[in-house]
Amino acid sequence: MDEKELEKFPFQPEELIESYRRVIKRIGVHGAKDDDLSAFFGIGDDLQPPPPLTAPAQRLFDRYCADTKRALCGGVTLGRARNAVLTRSLNGRDGCQACGCCLWGCAWRAIYNAAYDLDRLRKRPGFNWAGGVLVAELSASGGNWIAKGHGRRDQAPLSFSARKIVLASGTISTGAIVLRSLGLFGKKVSLLSTPSVSFAIWQPRFLFRSARQQFFGLSQLGFRVRWREDVDGFAFGNIFSADGIPAMAIVGSMPLSRALSIRLFNFLGPTLLLANCFFPGIFSNNHLSVSRDGTIAIEGNHADNLPQATRTVFRRLKRVLRRYGTFVIRSSSLALPGADVHYAGTVPMRCAPAAHECDGQGAVAGLPGVYVADGTALPHLSAKAHTLTIMANADRVARHIAALFNR
Ligand SMILES: Cc1cc2nc3c(=O)[nH]c(=O)nc-3n(C[C@H](O)[C@H](O)[C@H](O)COP(=O)(O)OP(=O)(O)OC[C@H]3O[C@@H](n4cnc5c(N)ncnc54)[C@H](O)[C@@H]3O)c2cc1C
Repeated sequence: MDEKELEKFPFQPEELIESYRRVIKRIGVHGAKDDDLSAFFGIGDDLQPPPPLTAPAQRLFDRYCADTKRALCGGVTLGRARNAVLTRSLNGRDGCQACGCCLWGCAWRAIYNAAYDLDRLRKRPGFNWAGGVLVAELSASGGNWIAKGHGRRDQAPLSFSARKIVLASGTISTGAIVLRSLGLFGKKVSLLSTPSVSFAIWQPRFLFRSARQQFFGLSQLGFRVRWREDVDGFAFGNIFSADGIPAMAIVGSMPLSRALSIRLFNFLGPTLLLANCFFPGIFSNNHLSVSRDGTIAIEGNHADNLPQATRTVFRRLKRVLRRYGTFVIRSSSLALPGADVHYAGTVPMRCAPAAHECDGQGAVAGLPGVYVADGTALPHLSAKAHTLTIMANADRVARHIAALFNR
């Protein structure tokens, strides 16, 4: 997130920007330093070079670069995607081998996975790991916090005691643990998400060509469609090669018989790029609550003005991409709330946190010594993918807590 987006966070943007740099260095991120989206993504110093594009993505990008003015006038900006995927070796992990199997996991460990950091932590003295445990709630006892839960497999009750506890079990689970621990049963708290639409980009010129054998299977290009000047006035998406997506994911949504859909997909596959498009969190209207028996309830809705924003964005996208010899095919309407995969904000950071909120260092109001360091803490969700921000904020919160111990 840039400085404008970080205005909604209760700390100085520089604190997070330092942490962005540290995380990017540690996990390895590829992307371009000098295309039209570089400034939008920010911090380009330690980027690894992006992998080669597939032919349809390359052609679209070439045509955009040759005639950028028209796109920019329409509010559309295109650039290389940023992914936490190595193209050069780093920390014992290898660079991408272009096998196209990204969605099945990476044998070369090029795609970042938190498990790699866990391996490194395990080598540190004083680090203990208890996996396979589900924590339900926290209670205070004699100046300590007790985290109570059970084993995932055997359901055996377990508890852990500590002076300080950092919760990072994800937006839904951390939010629920905080609400249970505060006894706020039945209270509905806001849950931000980024409503999304998926679509295809069709390039007829690639008809009768065969699919590539060697390619990078995650997002190739990123795009932004701006319709207003403020921080919530743009949608953001990623463009993928259809070669890297399992055929069944697409065949299953085609309004034809399965046999016909498979044939049609095999024929059209090499001509297609597939894309998603996310809208900012202000277009979501979701709530989370917990009941006394521990159950989590989520009501998911979109804001009333989302269909209008969607129409505006797709009108612009279609008009601009048609000039580059490509056609936008809206394969589906808006994804159901919850299927948009980016969510946050159930224990948001605030200058003056109320119950179930936290301060700028992640300290939860009403639970002294308990911190949140995951998606729960974000007070704002822009249309940009937000996981790097979650990681940078976790780095920032952890440094703050370490400093308290070292005082
Ligand atoms: C299909 C998909 C694609 C995505 N693509 C992107 C992308 O391209 N870019 C991007 O920025 N983001 C992407 N995201 C979002 C990204 O995965 C999340 O933003 C990120 O993982 C959230 O991090 P977190 O630390 O808040 O929670 P999580 O990553 O969910 O981590 C929470 C952890 O806590 C554990 N846990 C849960 N409950 C408990 C409990 N009660 N006790 C103990 N442990 C518990 C979970 O098993 C998990 O390991 C994608 C998500 C999905 C589902």
